[in-house]
Amino acid sequence: QIIIEEIKNTLGIQENNPAYSTGLIWGGTANKNSKTIYSPVDGQLIATVNLATPEDYETVIKTAQQAFEQWRRVPAPKRGDIVRQYGNKLRQYKESLGKLVSYEMGKIYQEGLGEVQEMIDICDFAVGLSRQLHGFTMHSERPGHRMYEQYHSLGIVGIISAFNFPVAVWSWNAMLAAVCGDVCVWKPSEKTPLTAIACQHILKEVLVENNLPEGVFNLIIGDAEIGALMAADDRLPLISATGSTRMGKKVGAAVGARLGRALLELGGNNAIILTEHANLDIALRAVVFGAVGTCGQRCTSTRRLIIHASIYEEIKERLLKIYPGLPIGNPLGDNILVGPLIDKNAVTGFQAALKAVQEEGGTLLTGGEILSGEEFETGTYVKPALVEAENTFKTVQEETFAPILYLIKYTGDVENAIAIQNGVRQGLSSAIFSTNLGQTEAFLAAWGSDCGIANVNIGTSGAEIGGAFGGEKDTGGGRESGSDAWKVYMRRQTNTINFSQELPLAQGIKFDL
Ligand code: NAD
Repeated sequence: QIIIEEIKNTLGIQENNPAYSTGLIWGGTANKNSKTIYSPVDGQLIATVNLATPEDYETVIKTAQQAFEQWRRVPAPKRGDIVRQYGNKLRQYKESLGKLVSYEMGKIYQEGLGEVQEMIDICDFAVGLSRQLHGFTMHSERPGHRMYEQYHSLGIVGIISAFNFPVAVWSWNAMLAAVCGDVCVWKPSEKTPLTAIACQHILKEVLVENNLPEGVFNLIIGDAEIGALMAADDRLPLISATGSTRMGKKVGAAVGARLGRALLELGGNNAIILTEHANLDIALRAVVFGAVGTCGQRCTSTRRLIIHASIYEEIKERLLKIYPGLPIGNPLGDNILVGPLIDKNAVTGFQAALKAVQEEGGTLLTGGEILSGEEFETGTYVKPALVEAENTFKTVQEETFAPILYLIKYTGDVENAIAIQNGVRQGLSSAIFSTNLGQTEAFLAAWGSDCGIANVNIGTSGAEIGGAFGGEKDTGGGRESGSDAWKVYMRRQTNTINFSQELPLAQGIKFDL
């Protein structure tokens, strides 16, 4: 508890935290609408937050609009320099912020540190990008003409984020948006507002040191109601929303109705295929971390294991030896792999899915219990479950945000496994373990995995920031982070310049005047 008090002091978390920040100014403490935040780790009250009102929201958007007018005039490499400084602050606060992520969300400390490292990595990436916001130059078909394209900043980017990556997802969006000349308004998950407040406090130091205006980086604490205001608001040309498919369908429809741009990062139902040619030692490492890491609460968590019939019994036996010994406990403790679920609702969802899958004919092989006794008083610690199931079961088709791994047997060719892997509505992450080139290339072919991420001999979770991240179908189609994902944060303009004394028309059109 003492450690947490120290972290709160370091990161600016108060007993009663304001509902919004436009940079230096914090506001919205006066309203009566507050939320208490308890840690899933030990059930302790961490702090309270005030929830923003629609009036607070208006204040934030108006400030952001004004800031955009200034920020878009700052040269991109200079914007990159601000991001560089933020990356350096994150290096300085990495340990404290990593611990707060772990304590507020429940992921193990190593993963909390990893999340902050991802923030640092995207800052570095964005700094380089700030000198590389390239467009193409094209050859005009008309004599004495030049044609090129350029990318301009877009405006206010609305960022709606989920509880499970409470800070990294914001930084993926906000740091790219910042170098692109956009300002952002971040609405974090109402389950994890304190890590967001901490990020904003760290950011404030950079804003003060550089004399930056209010409104470039904004934070607004609220629930789905504030998220819905953002989705419907045509002053926000881009909404980047991360969360459940249910949320994404609502946000996507609201943004679409006003012809805005939506970047949707939604649920996954990720599978690993183990063929008869898999190196089982490395495969099992990937399977176990993918299925139980973050207590099964990653969008890329491994939920389905599609195993060739010839190795099925061996895999089952080996997993049955590993699962009962998984180190479950306080995620801030040493050598723990599995922390708690985020709250009791998640525990209810976990148990309901296990009941439903058994009613459909699945077999629970191990796990599923809620842990009790000393250290587990919160009722949020569960034993990861292994279940034998069919891909067609309704429960298997859905994303249960908890540590359940479905074992699914396939026979014959790898194409049968790929068909099972693709046979769900979600399309985020996928992986194959095989040393057979024909099998791995079939998996990566145009008729192979239909996911946004397809890996060979590594698992489904743990993406690097250098690649574009996202998925297809019910996962929403958005891409963020690396590669050319930055383009969604900018508007593209094609410019044709006539430096001749004539006015030839395109396609050779002639007319007399
Ligand atoms: P959630 O959908 O409950 O909430 C996510 C965010 O959306 C929160 O900030 C919430 O307040 C907001 N929200 C909810 N309803 C809204 C509405 N109608 N209008 C506007 N905003 C609304 O999700 P969660 O439980 O926080 O997170 C878990 C889900 O997120 C899982 O499905 C997981 O797969 C997904 N996720 C996806 C990715 C990805 O990159 N694809 C990353 C992380 C999490």
